[in-house]
Order: sequence, then structure tokens, then C-alpha cells
Amino acid sequence: MFESLFDIDFAASEAQLRDVVERCEELKSKAAAAQARATALWAQKRAAAEQAAGMSARGRGKGLTSEIALARRDAPACGNTHLGMANALVHEMPCTLAALEKGQLSEYRALTIVRESACLSVEDRRKLDAELNEEAHGFDGWGNRRVAAEARRITARLDAAAVVERNNKAVKDRCVTTRPAPNNMVYVTFLMPLAQGIGMYAALKREADMCGDGRSRGQVMTDVAYERVTGRDVAQPVSVSLNLVMADTTLAGDDTEPAWLDGYGPIPAGFACKLTGDAATDAEAKATLRRLYRHPKSGQLVAMESRARIFPKGLAAFIGLRDRTCRTPYCDAPIRHHDHATPDREGGETSALNGLGACEACNYAKEAPGWRVSTSKHEGEHTAEYTTPTGATYRSIAPPLPGVPVRQKVSLAEGRISIDLVTFQAA
Ligand SMILES: [Zn+2]
Repeated sequence: MFESLFDIDFAASEAQLRDVVERCEELKSKAAAAQARATALWAQKRAAAEQAAGMSARGRGKGLTSEIALARRDAPACGNTHLGMANALVHEMPCTLAALEKGQLSEYRALTIVRESACLSVEDRRKLDAELNEEAHGFDGWGNRRVAAEARRITARLDAAAVVERNNKAVKDRCVTTRPAPNNMVYVTFLMPLAQGIGMYAALKREADMCGDGRSRGQVMTDVAYERVTGRDVAQPVSVSLNLVMADTTLAGDDTEPAWLDGYGPIPAGFACKLTGDAATDAEAKATLRRLYRHPKSGQLVAMESRARIFPKGLAAFIGLRDRTCRTPYCDAPIRHHDHATPDREGGETSALNGLGACEACNYAKEAPGWRVSTSKHEGEHTAEYTTPTGATYRSIAPPLPGVPVRQKVSLAEGRISIDLVTFQAA
């Protein structure tokens, strides 16, 4: 039935094309509603099956959120949100689900309503659901902020104490995170109580207002924040340990293949060479080199010169460099565990082949009944296969190392290409 809609006619008029855009948007909302119904029913069936199998209440439902996320091609960490939203819409918010089904709300706006009302009792949530949907008259012309504000307003009126309690709980989630920004920059984000955050921002702004050395307000605020937190001048070199992986040919200036900075991602060759050059010439910095070997065909890490004599430590470093992030498909979380694909207790070896980089949540999820993870290696390509309790399989292949791939007909032993790992350590 969708073929006629998805086949875009080249001769279509602008009005017809607008119509296609509108109908596709409606379909996305409808699909989100169907996905929520299927997810909630899946959880019910799983719970019933586990209960019938005599599983304790505490053990039930483990791993299901990861399965839901994988089915949606999303990071396992998001599975909880998907399941929570599905359960809330199906069991507690019929009017919001109906609005989603009719295309009046997008999935994002429906999720916003679910989030804003999460602190309410089921009874109050049903009240909010009915009230908001009646007031909105089909949400015509309502933007993301208005949907959030109205849901928040009704929530606060229905149960002010619950909102206060939620706010108090939120304080516990305060944290500092980083994510890459373009042009070798990075965003450092503080999630903190409102008063403290505004206070910190105001203090930095005041500092900038008093400074008249030609730097912009943003520049002074950033410099002051750095100096206060690290206790160092911005002009002083940074003294942290960096793991930088780059091709020896790039280090020698023969090519400009991007390097890989652990915990950040790819960086241009020029910048990588500047980092290594700075470390080599700075008397206080300590630059160390370690040779890594790349498979000629897959480009993956095959061996590493090991300084550490203790086998597991070197192996953990090897797996970390090979996998870079958690190996579960769609999960980009940092590696917290060096996990056995086939568990130790089932005779799984402590080896690079059986080892996998995993984040905490994924390592826990795959311990749930019905999950199986196996690893294989073919032509230097390390593959992990995840089988879920419903029989779905997902594959993840380790990423190649930096450097130009070599596709010559050479045996592995002869075709090893050396890559240098440069580590800067604190002086
Ligand atoms: Zn993970």
C-alpha cells in the first residue's frame, strides 16, 4: 500500500510533493505508535514466559531493553527509554498514544509528555493525559517547547510534591561529560543544579567583563574556567596521558592519513604530528612509542609489542586499542570491561579472539538467559556475533587502524605493517 507513496514521481507538482512529505510524517508517527504497542506487548509476553518458567521476580526482564534497542538499531543504553515510553503510552496514556497514532504528535513530542509526567502516580498521569489532549485540540501548531511546557505545568499542578522530589533526585545525576566538536575542539558539559550552574556562568561572565586585554568574552570565560579547574595557566602545556594511534608513514610525513586519539576519535595527520612533535621537544613531556601490527587486508590490529610482561594487562590494552568502544552493535559507549565472549566458566579462553571490549550495561545484558556471543576471525577480521533470546543475530566487526590499507598479495607474516603508538605521559 505504501509503494505509490514511496515512489517519488519526477513529474509531480510542488503541491503533490508537499502532500507526500505530509503523509510520510504521518506515517512515521503511526509507525512509532505501532512500535510502542509491539514493544509493550513483547515485554508482557516475556514477563509471562519468565514467570511460567519459575524465574524469580528479580531475575525477570534482564537483557530485554538491549534486545529492544538492537531491534531499533539504537544504542543498548537507549533501550530503557524505549521500553519505558512504550509501557507508559500503552498502559497509562491512551490519549497521547491515540494522538501519536493519528499523526498529531511526533514520537519526540510524545516522549516529551511521557518524560515530563514520569514523576506522577498512574492515576495522576491518566488525568494529565486526558487534560492535555483535550486542551491541545490535536496539537495543531504546538512546537516542542509548548508541548513540554504544558505537560510540565499540568504535572506541577497535579502533584507539586512529586516535582520537588524529582528535582531533588535529579541533583544526584550531576556529572561532567565531554563530546568531540569540529576542528579539534571539544565540548565539556556540566550537568549541575540550576542555581550552581547559573552562578558559575555569572562568575565567569563577571571575570570577562573586568578583563580588557582584547580577548573576546567567550575566550576569557573559557580560559578562566580552565585555569580555575586545573590550577594551570592556559599557556602551560597540558600534562595528561594521551593514547594516539597513527601510521608510521604519517609520522614520517609520507602521507596524511588521519590518526586516532583514544577517547576522542579521528584527528588530522597535521595535528597528530604537532602533538608528537611538541611532546618530543618538550623536556617535561614523556613520549613513548609502541609498535602495533596491522593486518594487510582488514587493517585491524593483529599484534602489539608488549612492554607489560603480565599477559592480561597487555591483552586488555590490545583489546581496548582494537575495539575502541563497546563492541555491541550501535553502542558507542567507552570500554569498561574486557569481557570473555564465551564465558570463563564455559571454558572460554582469555585471548584476543575471545576477548571483547564492553561497556558496563552491555556486559551485564549479555549475561541474561538466552544470550549468546561468539567471536571469529577471518582474514584478519575480528567479528563478534550476538544472538538474542528471540533468535536475532547482530554482527560487529572491529574497526581498522589508521593508515592506508594495503591490498597486496602478501602473506600475513611478510605483509605486517608497523604502526606506531605514541603515548604522552604526565611528567
Ligand atoms: Zn555497550
